[in-house]
Amino acid sequence: MKKAFVTKEMVEEIVKKYPTPFHIYDERGIRENVKALQKAFSWNPGFKEYFAVKATPNPTILRILHEEGCGTDCSSLAELVMSERTGIQGYDVMFSSNETPAEEYVKCAEIGGIINLDDITHIDFVVNALEGKLTGEEAGRKLPRRMSCRFNPGGLFTLGESSESVQVMDNPGEAKYGMTEEQIIEAYKRLKELGVEELGLHSFLASNTVTNDYYPALARILFQLAVKIQKEAGVKLSFINLSGGVGISYVPDKPSNDIQAIGDGVHKVYDEVLVPAGMGDVAIYTELGRFMLAPYGHLVTKAVHEKHIYKEYIGVDACAANLMRPAMYGSYHHITVLGKEDAPKDHVYDVVGSLCENNDKFAIDRELPEIEIGDYLAIHDTGAHGFAMGYNYNGRLWSSELLLRMDGTVTLIRRAETLEDYFATLEGFWDIEV
Ligand SMILES: *Cc1c(COP(=O)(O)O)cnc(C)c1O
Repeated sequence: MKKAFVTKEMVEEIVKKYPTPFHIYDERGIRENVKALQKAFSWNPGFKEYFAVKATPNPTILRILHEEGCGTDCSSLAELVMSERTGIQGYDVMFSSNETPAEEYVKCAEIGGIINLDDITHIDFVVNALEGKLTGEEAGRKLPRRMSCRFNPGGLFTLGESSESVQVMDNPGEAKYGMTEEQIIEAYKRLKELGVEELGLHSFLASNTVTNDYYPALARILFQLAVKIQKEAGVKLSFINLSGGVGISYVPDKPSNDIQAIGDGVHKVYDEVLVPAGMGDVAIYTELGRFMLAPYGHLVTKAVHEKHIYKEYIGVDACAANLMRPAMYGSYHHITVLGKEDAPKDHVYDVVGSLCENNDKFAIDRELPEIEIGDYLAIHDTGAHGFAMGYNYNGRLWSSELLLRMDGTVTLIRRAETLEDYFATLEGFWDIEV
């Protein structure tokens, strides 16, 4: 069962100040979940979660996570700057980017972040970027003390032992990210020669996994590679970054991941592979996005139209511009009709937004209680890759973001976009007044 963290009464109060649609986040849920993650990895003294900023790029959210001991995982200039302005710098910043412009490496180095190289050719690129050769400045910066390399094992990534139980998780052989084993060993040798003292290993092999076996399986691959790197490159790694990919269950009847079991699973492999190789002090890092935030966000929207043609439609005031996942991936997002939590689900609806696109459907053939115009709907699990993936198609504006505080009050943490914002980048054409 999925239960909304807001009620009809709460929303009726909120909309007096902040009209629908809006994204709202649950501070208590976020903090409790970080604590559970940290407890699951407390056996590892250097453990750190670097929150994937792209999932929920809001400084208030970053600050809450930072207060709980998390860093940020950035992949663009805007994310680096947001992290810096939130007061998150130095080794609290991981820069796991790809196809990265020179200026962004420079920015990362300036704030003392950890550059995670996506390719062996990027060693020279970063050296040149920091020296200023790529940006035309006289800089002469040195490579940072601490860096990381991203690994791609190729082939298919599977879980399970016997041929019947093998589950294909993803296809790294088709993924643009990371280096081959041969390249990564070479990369560590070169980085060591160039004076980088603390090196890490990173890999991201599958997204939104709903199994307790993903991290342990990934850890085994990376830990075995770490032992090989020590032998062949003479580099003892300082940290291993399991990256993102631990998912959540979006559907109500499928169990979610058990983070304690995941932490225990990684611990077991650590003791089996790293400890005997004399690497019992390697820190484990994660770069989770979805797992940290998705369940602690709702998109709250109001039913504004109903339509009875070949199917039953409910039109709401949010659209795919506020939450792209259903349109883009056909993703299921659970919906609670607020105030009707216990009513029988005896109607079948398509719940649709206003884009001139027929894939703008938050739910298709969904069994729900009878929806009346004016009802508020909480769309679940929108805290990660929700607001963040928004766009302006059809001239739809970005919604506000709200935070439900620990004490039950609600704070605006991003105002809704206005028409002035929307027109602000149009040059030399008109001065708009609205
Ligand atoms: C997207 C991303 C993450 C976060 O992924 P989730 O599936 O949200 O956990 C972490 N690291 C990198 C490099 C990413 O691109």
